[in-house]
Formats: sequence, C-alpha cells, structure tokens
Amino acid sequence: MRDEILRILSSYDQEEVRIGTIGSHSALNILKGAKEEGFETVCICRERERFVYESFGVADHIIQVDDYRELLDEAIQRKLIELNTVLIPHGSYNAYIGSLYNLKVPVFGNRVLMEWETVREKQREWLERAGLKLPRTYSSPDEIDGLVIVKYPGARGGKGYFIARDRDDFYRKAGKLVRRGIISEEDVDSAHIQQYVLGVPVYFSFFYSVVNGRIELIAIDRRYESNVDGISRIPAEEQLEAGIIPTYTVVGNIPLVVRESLLSRILRDGQRVYEYSKRIAEPGMVGPFCLESIIDENGEIYYFEISARIVAGSTVGIPASPYSYVLFGENMYMGRRIAREIRIGIEKDMLGEMIF
Ligand code: AMP
Ligand code: AMP
Repeated sequence: MRDEILRILSSYDQEEVRIGTIGSHSALNILKGAKEEGFETVCICRERERFVYESFGVADHIIQVDDYRELLDEAIQRKLIELNTVLIPHGSYNAYIGSLYNLKVPVFGNRVLMEWETVREKQREWLERAGLKLPRTYSSPDEIDGLVIVKYPGARGGKGYFIARDRDDFYRKAGKLVRRGIISEEDVDSAHIQQYVLGVPVYFSFFYSVVNGRIELIAIDRRYESNVDGISRIPAEEQLEAGIIPTYTVVGNIPLVVRESLLSRILRDGQRVYEYSKRIAEPGMVGPFCLESIIDENGEIYYFEISARIVAGSTVGIPASPYSYVLFGENMYMGRRIAREIRIGIEKDMLGEMIF
C-alpha cells in the first residue's frame, strides 16, 4: 500500500500540490494554515457544513458528500488525486470514517500511529512504555477503591462520562445515565474505569518536524466541558438536591500557558513519546500529536490520552500561541505548521518522508 501511495505522490505536479481535509473538527485551522503557506485547499464536506467553509473563505475547492465515509469511494479518491491533494487527518476521520488504511490518497503523518490512537489499551501501552505517569486503571467496578472516572471506547468527546467512588455508586450512576438514554447497557459493560486525578486538565499540542528533526511545542489549551465546567455556577445545595452528575461533553477549548518550571518535564515527555513511537511504527511520529494530562496540586503530570494527529484545541493557537511565537518569531499555528513542513518537504524533495 505504501508503495502505491508513494507512486501516486510521485505522479503529483509538485507545483500544484493542494492541501485537503474533511470540513469539521479543525478544518478552519488546517485550511487557513495551508492558504497562508501558499497552497490551494480542498474541503470535503456535507451540505450543512458547506457554508461554514465558504463563509470563512478557506476552501478553494469543495467536494460535497452526503456522508464523510464517501471519502473512501473510488470516485472521490480519484478526484482528490487529480487535484494533487495531500490529506490532513483530524478527529473526524476516526469518528466518522474508521480506518485510514483504505485511503490511497496521500495522508500527512503516520497512519499506523493514528490507528494505534483509536484503541485505549494501545495508547496506554505507548505512554507507559515511553515512561510517562498515567492514572491507574481498574479492570472491574468491584475493584474501585477511590474516586474514578468512567469512560467508553472511541472518540465521543466525553459524552456520558461520570465519576464514581465505589462499586455501588458506579452501578447507581450508570443506571441513571442508561435510563436517561445518555449511555447504553453495552457502554456500561465496556466502560473504561480510571483513577480520577484531582487537578486541572492541560493539553499539549506538539509537532514533530522531519525537516528540523525536532519536537516543537506549538500550543497549550484546556477544554471547556459541559456540564462539569458549569457545575460550580450553582450552589452545592442545588447540585446535591437535583442529583446532578458531572459529565464531560466537550464544547470548546481555552488557551493556556503553564508555569514555566513545568516545561522541562513536558518537553522531556513529548520527546519520550516521540522516541517510543519509532518502536511502534517506523519512522515514528510525523507532524502533530497531542498529550492530554491532568496536573495535580504537587505538580505531578498524569497523562491520560494521546492523539497522533492534530487536535481541535490547537485552534486556540491561531494566529500564534506564546510558545509558537517564541519558537518561530512570527505567526505560527498547527495548521500553518503542517503546511510549512509540506512546503519545505516539496522544496527539499522530502515529501515522501512525511506521507504514509
Ligand atoms: P465534530 O466535527 O464536532 O462532530 O467532531 C468530530 C470528532 O472530533 C468527534 O469525535 C468529537 O468528539 C471530536 N472533537 C471535536 N471537537 C473537539 C474538541 N474541541 N476537543 C476534543 N474533541 C473534539
Ligand atoms: P478524554 O475523553 O479521555 O479525553 O477525557 C475527557 C475529559 O475528562 C478530560 O478533558 C478531563 O476533563 C476529564 N478526565 C479524563 N480523564 C481523567 C482523569 N483520569 N482524572 C480526572 N479527569 C479526567
């Protein structure tokens, strides 16, 4: 497959490479960045999102589909290849399309690692073997001996997550969410039970540059989640009386800078994750990845997730985050950083090392 993708890439007119993605998640970031680096853009979207990308003026070519899965159709792939498209994967690819292995269109980044990211156990293995600190996991509700957070497989933006303190509490709250139709019985059986780390969530958007041979910290953000970030807006008495269960549906993201003394560990951890990625799938991480953490009152950083692609939170870094500005001395954000890497890749004849 890789040979075929490289063959398709070599058929591209290098002067006319276009950058494309699915119209959702972080498409504004990706497409704007591509245009700022001088590329024409291709946006694959449904009718209902079309006007978003048109009104922001970031899509030079629009391929309208009824369903994102059509990206895998022969005709759509042919069209993308005709346009010399390099696709930039984001969170919607996992959520709406599934495996990227059926795509012949060149994709920026390491597809094998993106596949790893979709399985929680594999993410865990990656982070643990890289030497990072993780929250403890429990294999059954019977083992719960402290505060836990309950999650489900797949990327669902935190929908239906809840906190429990013991076995009975787990079943009581799970039952309540099932009755409210927020989760299903199967979700309860496949639940992933994790130590709840009391602290604050902090998300690090890194970029591994093949051209520069280094890890770059592009932006930091935190999530804004409903209803957990809204609960403190009502008094504790009402929270108890109404039996409110905190949930974690992501609504948006907020930019952040961290205490500078934390940076040495954060950068070291990013580097370790990169180093271990080479053992999972050569040549390792290419381009954007995100480490998702909770930092507690002692400054301990617990990593609970990795995304092997651009994350939506990196959009807070447009036009520059404090970190990307210090690093580049100009406006730089994840979408633009990706496009810059592709542009230099074309100039230095290194594009084949970034496409999988
Ligand atoms: P959407 O286009 O909003 O349906 O999102 C596509 C996928 O990306 C879904 O799995 C969402 O849960 C996830 N997603 C979208 N925006 C964010 C965000 N700001 N933070 C984390 N995940 C997100
Ligand atoms: P996730 O779907 O794993 O990205 O988690 C969604 C949200 O749940 C995060 O943004 C955090 O607010 C919260 N969260 C996840 N894992 C933990 C944990 N182990 N301890 C505390 N909060 C967590």
